[in-house]
Amino acid sequence: MPIVGFDTNTVNTLRLWEATSPNGFDLQLFNNMDYNRAVERQNSAENISRVLYPNDNGPSGKALRLKQQYFFSSASLQDLVHHFVANYGTNFRKFPELHVIQLNDTHPVVAIPELMRILIDEYGVSWDEAWDIVTKTFAYTNHTILAEALEKWPIEIFQGLLPRIYQIVEEINRRFVDDLRKKYPDDYDRQNRMSIIGNGKVKMAWLAIHACFSVNGVAELHTELLKTQELKDWAELYPAKFNNKTNGITQRRWLLNANPTLAEFITKRIGHGWEKDLTKLKGLEKFADDEESLNELVKIKHANKQVLADFLKHTQNDFLDPDSIFDVQVKRLHEYKRQLLNVLHIMYLYNRLLDDPNYNPPARTFIFGAKAASGYRRAKSIIKLINTVADRVNNDRRVRGKLRVVFIENYCVSIAEKIFPAADVSEQISTAGFEASGTSNMKFMVNGALTLGTLDGANIEIVREAGEENAFVFGLKSDEIIKMEAEHSYNPQECLARNPALNKVVEQLVDGTYDQSRQIFKELHDSLVYGVEGQRPDVYYVLADFGAYCQAHEKVVAAYADQKAWAKKALINIANSGKFSSDRTIEDYVRDIWKVQKVEVKR
Ligand SMILES: *Cc1c(COP(=O)(O)O)cnc(C)c1O
Repeated sequence: MPIVGFDTNTVNTLRLWEATSPNGFDLQLFNNMDYNRAVERQNSAENISRVLYPNDNGPSGKALRLKQQYFFSSASLQDLVHHFVANYGTNFRKFPELHVIQLNDTHPVVAIPELMRILIDEYGVSWDEAWDIVTKTFAYTNHTILAEALEKWPIEIFQGLLPRIYQIVEEINRRFVDDLRKKYPDDYDRQNRMSIIGNGKVKMAWLAIHACFSVNGVAELHTELLKTQELKDWAELYPAKFNNKTNGITQRRWLLNANPTLAEFITKRIGHGWEKDLTKLKGLEKFADDEESLNELVKIKHANKQVLADFLKHTQNDFLDPDSIFDVQVKRLHEYKRQLLNVLHIMYLYNRLLDDPNYNPPARTFIFGAKAASGYRRAKSIIKLINTVADRVNNDRRVRGKLRVVFIENYCVSIAEKIFPAADVSEQISTAGFEASGTSNMKFMVNGALTLGTLDGANIEIVREAGEENAFVFGLKSDEIIKMEAEHSYNPQECLARNPALNKVVEQLVDGTYDQSRQIFKELHDSLVYGVEGQRPDVYYVLADFGAYCQAHEKVVAAYADQKAWAKKALINIANSGKFSSDRTIEDYVRDIWKVQKVEVKR
């Protein structure tokens, strides 16, 4: 697939692989009317590349997933080695000079033993030389600190499917554990913790960190937490491997293409150039007090809100008022991202509007977009809750014109391109320490939405760039949460006792207010209040942050009342979003990890 750049003279290629069977369809069986068996082999081959697993930060653990990982990794490696051999022959010493393989998460880590296999079994390279080549070639990017997302394959599945690869992993680990014994002779606990094979599992993240010459996180806080918490043992053993590469997004898609009117507003003021160097947006800052610019910015946002409103009227018959605040949380549905905190706050607002005749806030529209992984029941309960609250609120005349809730179906990139330009408020409310980076936070920023968020992931860097006074920061910080975890000092019951309004919304999950059967949201309620299936209650500190979240919303509403001041904050956010271009991210990888020389291709 050709990857055509923007205003360049080069075209890159992306190879995509599809599994088929060389002797798939069995006409003999078909003629004997054994139709299922006739296509069985073909199906089982095609299944390998049929679907991309949709699991987000959760275990998949299925043999087909490992087949898929091996298939894609091996195909790419074979292709790359064939090219090398065709050009340079079978002396592989030059190989690491010419290649870096950047492992994007643990999913392709099986490529490490696969390259060992190709070099040793197919080209007769010695173990030591193959290991030298492999360890100079691979680099690893970690994308999450959630322990359940670091892939660990049961030995039976791994060895059963990939017997030769398993032998190679065993030998890598035998040599590694030998070294560990020499380095930490009395620390058996550490030797066990760091062993690549242990407790009946193959630990893909450990294999990656041991074999790669670079290990990076995707935002400053994330990398720091890797070094001091989750991967502490490894950072002590291999301190020089660890580095940070803060994520980015492309302004060509998320600004130029998705928001043409804002792009034109920018170009009119600072000229072209920002499309290829986003730091040029800094030039917008001198318009921060320019009345005409601020008025135009308000108009552009309003028009984009109208476009989204028209789209949602057409696609799912939802009515949105573009004069209301568009408060948006769009991202995969996961407990750590805390969509539940958002919807509990909406339930609280609804109660308050009904109970307090003196409460007269500006009109608000809360917009959600999210998909849940197929087997993630609690995530689906949260989607059900959002839709149930939306149904109630949107059909209650008493709050009409004050409060609306919209759940956008089928959240995906194409729909995302309509959402970011229309957002006033960017909800980035994950439990501090759990979001590795986030990238929607960056898409919102470059489209002039103000961040309402915790000090988590790249939010920290976003707020640093934009200025704390141009964002709404709230909640526990990651070090506070780490301390509470260590001391087992968090008691959600205390939060409920201290805050009757919070206690009321939590009880409304099970008192018949939203569900007459009182069953649908019981598991959700119990997970917050008691803890279920051996889990602690409120694992993600939703109740602990609720009060601070409500106060942060009060500040949002107060700030929005002054449209000009709000537009100024939006403009300063846009002007300072330059760091979050993926161009900068890629330059960082090029300079620090890949060490690639730039070649200018002349017209
Ligand atoms: C950017 C994007 C994401 C990532 O969102 P986060 O809030 O950073 O998790 C997910 N899905 C789609 C469709 C996106 O465009």
